[in-house]
Amino acid sequence: MKGNKNSLTQLVGLFGHPVEHSFSPEMHEAVFKYLGLNYRYLLFDIFPQNLKKALDSLVPLGFRGVNISLPHKKRTLAFLDKISDKAKLIGAINTVVVDRGKLVGYNTDGMGFAASLQKDARVNLKQKKVVILGAGGAAHSIATELALAKAGKISIFNILLYEAKDLAIRIKRYVPHSITEFFLLKPGAILDEKIREADIIVNATSVGLNPADPLLINPDVLGKKHLVCDVIYNPSKTKLLAAAQKRKAKTLNGLGMLIHQGAISFELWTGRKAPVKIMKAALEKVIKKRK
Ligand code: NDP
Repeated sequence: MKGNKNSLTQLVGLFGHPVEHSFSPEMHEAVFKYLGLNYRYLLFDIFPQNLKKALDSLVPLGFRGVNISLPHKKRTLAFLDKISDKAKLIGAINTVVVDRGKLVGYNTDGMGFAASLQKDARVNLKQKKVVILGAGGAAHSIATELALAKAGKISIFNILLYEAKDLAIRIKRYVPHSITEFFLLKPGAILDEKIREADIIVNATSVGLNPADPLLINPDVLGKKHLVCDVIYNPSKTKLLAAAQKRKAKTLNGLGMLIHQGAISFELWTGRKAPVKIMKAALEKVIKKRK
């Protein structure tokens, strides 16, 4: 007798709170369809008090894995059987794989960012001087990946100085060859000087999501030599990227990071190479539709 197709469906999805804004279902479902894989990607709005129970249910329900989004990325660490070295280093999880009944945690955000820099902007990170704005989850994963990729210097600016210090010290401890420094994020001579000497500037804060948000840096110090990156992908051109383009800097938004982190998660779950072009087309379509 032929098996019931639905009973063989492999389940993956997203645990977050809220989750309805996520574009990940469209991105992953497009690839499942393209490759003819019997997988489904579903959204789960998980309240913080239910996180452990939700993660514990993955094995009995036969899930292949999940992505983890805000606000659960840090707390998930405590509820897994095994954690990749990189996720330990970053201190947050964005992907869980169910491997022979055990929950294994990974963080693919920083790898997604580095892949986007290399593949979309054709940048080799070695010896590059980078200014990072922000010290939250995205900044942790990006700064860690930059350090592992042997960036020349990583200057972290944040509105809470102790968060920037904590991130700089953490990276230095785990990646001893790295050179890190930290500063208070505020307009002025230090920020201007660090940007002038940098090759790459990364906005890893949520400032810019709203078109009315202010610029965090003085745009007049930007120029042709800079690559200005924003982790934000919607809007696709933030105020920062528009200001950078006006001063002839190269720019990169967060879409590539989103695609590549998703591609790495996809590969961890399915063991198949992710067709990045299909993911990109699906994302562009859904972003346009939801505008
Ligand atoms: P977190 O909440 O962990 O961090 C947010 C950061 O922004 C913190 O450093 C915070 O500073 C800073 N910040 C917030 N408000 C201000 C402000 N008014 N002025 C200056 N700094 C501010 O969020 P994430 O790191 O997870 O996400 C940050 C952004 O990255 C979001 O827009 C998110 O959508 C995007 N992102 C994109 C991804 C992609 O694939 N493209 C993947 C992951 C995230 P403090 O905490 O000190 O107050």
